[in-house]
Amino acid sequence: PLVLGIETSCDETGVGLVRGSTLLANAVASSVEEHARFGGVVPEVASRAHLEAMTPTVERALEQAGVRFSDIDAVAVTAGPGLAGALLVGVAAAKAYAMGLGVPLYGVNHLAAHVAVDQLEHGPLPKPTIALLVSGGHSSLLLVPDVARDVISLGSTVDDAAGEAFDKVARVLGLPFPGGPHIDRAAAQGSGTAVAFPRGKYDDGTLDFSFSGLKTAVARWVEAKEREGGSVPVADVAASFQEAVVDVLTRKALQACRQYGVEDLLIGGGVAANSRLRALAQERCDAAGVRLRVPRPGLCTDNGAMIAALGSELVASGIGASAWDIPADSSLPITTVHV
Ligand code: ATP
Ligand code: MG
Ligand code: FE
Repeated sequence: PLVLGIETSCDETGVGLVRGSTLLANAVASSVEEHARFGGVVPEVASRAHLEAMTPTVERALEQAGVRFSDIDAVAVTAGPGLAGALLVGVAAAKAYAMGLGVPLYGVNHLAAHVAVDQLEHGPLPKPTIALLVSGGHSSLLLVPDVARDVISLGSTVDDAAGEAFDKVARVLGLPFPGGPHIDRAAAQGSGTAVAFPRGKYDDGTLDFSFSGLKTAVARWVEAKEREGGSVPVADVAASFQEAVVDVLTRKALQACRQYGVEDLLIGGGVAANSRLRALAQERCDAAGVRLRVPRPGLCTDNGAMIAALGSELVASGIGASAWDIPADSSLPITTVHV
């Protein structure tokens, strides 16, 4: 079956087309530049941008895939979590498309979709898989017995999300929003051992994370440097901060694998695009005999293909369609895969 996926939880209007587990189209329009001068996503601006981008992005996806509206067998949409007004635009559009085409509607969880998208690239997810989900709003370790039906939370951040820490530290270093990719690039020119930044919850035995102490430590370090009148070594600070984040993330991910006796680890979400996280995870997985799966960077950040991928998995699993009156749920819990 051909599944249309619609994503509008934040600032990307994403439309994907997936048949089975084959990716046919992935069209993304981003309003990120309209938010950059505010240093963060402005919800009202994002909602309006989704409204304007929806129709053209759907048409672009159909064109990419070389299919017509009448070929679509089901519509999947992000029902949450995310920005309420932004989600609403996608949910309304998806209902209209599904109803107009006379096909079933599937409201899906954005976070589970960050996990499911890997199937487009690396085939069926082993059951179970441990998933490290690291994005702009979330950082969690998940036990995933079946991404269509069963996602169990093992731990999560007690304060900032990993991506949020990247974005805040980037701002301290004078790098543009969103900061993740800029830190990644700057860090490539610096040393990860230049500054010994703190690693929150490193040895506490839990599968939780904490990044707000690290963020504050970086800000203090930079302030002190500026007070001394010295110039801030941006590349070294970026690399040392990044090393602290990915050290904790990979350590806890492998701890989860060990604890649950699972030999497959998947990393998903926007921060999974980080080059140092990918490299260190591979190194540590190799040493631990764990198989690692990470989608290519374009599938890690928000997109419509991930929503179509999870929708397609629901269809394949024989799960019933959503009701026509599903709401957008800005705080949909990670354990609710579909609504
Ligand atoms: P959520 O999925 O929790 O709702 P979101 O959808 O806003 O949040 P994503 O698009 O999944 O977030 O991820 C965006 C985050 O990923 C941003 O914080 C961004 O800085 C970060 N990011 C993107 N690329 C990189 C990179 N190369 N290195 C580090 N962080 C990155
Ligand atoms: Mg975004
Ligand atoms: Fe996301």
